[in-house]
Amino acid sequence: MTTKLARLQSQLAESGIEGMIVSALPNVQWLTGFTGSAGTVLVTPKVSDGRYTIQAQEQIKDMETATATNERPTASLLAERAQTAGLKTLGFEGDHVTYATYETWKEKFAPLELHGVKDLCGVLRMVKSAEEISHIREACALTDACFAHVLRMVQVGVSELDISIEIEFFFKRQGAGLAFDPIVVSGERSARPHGVPSDKKLTAGDFVTMDFGAKVDGYCGDLTRTVVVQEASDRHVEIYELLLRSQLAGIEALVPGATAAGVDKVPRDILAEKDLAQYFTHGLGHGLGGVVHDTGRLHASSDTVIEAGQVWTIEPGVYIEGFGGARIEDDVLVTGTGNEVLTHSPKELLIVPAYGR
Ligand code: ZN
Ligand code: ZN
Repeated sequence: MTTKLARLQSQLAESGIEGMIVSALPNVQWLTGFTGSAGTVLVTPKVSDGRYTIQAQEQIKDMETATATNERPTASLLAERAQTAGLKTLGFEGDHVTYATYETWKEKFAPLELHGVKDLCGVLRMVKSAEEISHIREACALTDACFAHVLRMVQVGVSELDISIEIEFFFKRQGAGLAFDPIVVSGERSARPHGVPSDKKLTAGDFVTMDFGAKVDGYCGDLTRTVVVQEASDRHVEIYELLLRSQLAGIEALVPGATAAGVDKVPRDILAEKDLAQYFTHGLGHGLGGVVHDTGRLHASSDTVIEAGQVWTIEPGVYIEGFGGARIEDDVLVTGTGNEVLTHSPKELLIVPAYGR
């Protein structure tokens, strides 16, 4: 029995539910290590669909696997196994399963009672195992390597798309995946926190924000760096220096026992010193794991308590319409006594290319 499975089972027991159907893919992957694009876990016996029989047997070591067929679809297989296990109540992911699926299940599983459970695996997913942390470390290391690689091409005349495509090439050439589509925005476009790369070419005096991450062994890295092309104005320097100070303070505040809302406030107070807090228009960060936006948000209305084993991004930004914007993002593991930053790309203000100075 895996520790994750044991944790889930004890949570279910506390809620008075005997078993659970887990079908949201991030939860399936978290629970079993299985990375196929379809699969369902019945907590007690397990089921996966036929396209992945071999992959399932290879990846799912300590659980029994079964393959659904057209004649014996997943719902029938699950119902049989639940009956064999003598279950009377079964939980399902109420925030994931569609109403249509619920109706089918209700019919197939009767007289067994189904109970919608909200985000149980998601909350358990927040505290990472040693194995998960080592995968996240690898993803972060490759993400750092990618930054060093693409930084060399950031210069006047290169387009946002050129850079974003090079990021994709880099990860794929290393046999890795992408945690999400890279964001590369420059000049006035850098005021868009989640802008899509365009054919706009970099010009001198542009802020260039690059936000990207590798996906390695099913786990994500997530890094943002902002640089200036050729010449930085006093305004660039002022914004960047304060943003960096706010980001470092945010990291320092991310310790066990802190609240998500408390951590979120720290960089805002620093940005307020120069009236820049008004331009920081999103939460400070998010949980990071098998999906890039894993469970948990650092924002003003979150009462989540920071715990050892969680991995968070710390990513304050300043976005000024008509001028441009900057964001600095690192991935941070909460430890028993404080935290460890997992991404190590330089974050002093870089004016590129170096010979242009
Ligand atoms: Zn990011
Ligand atoms: Zn992020």
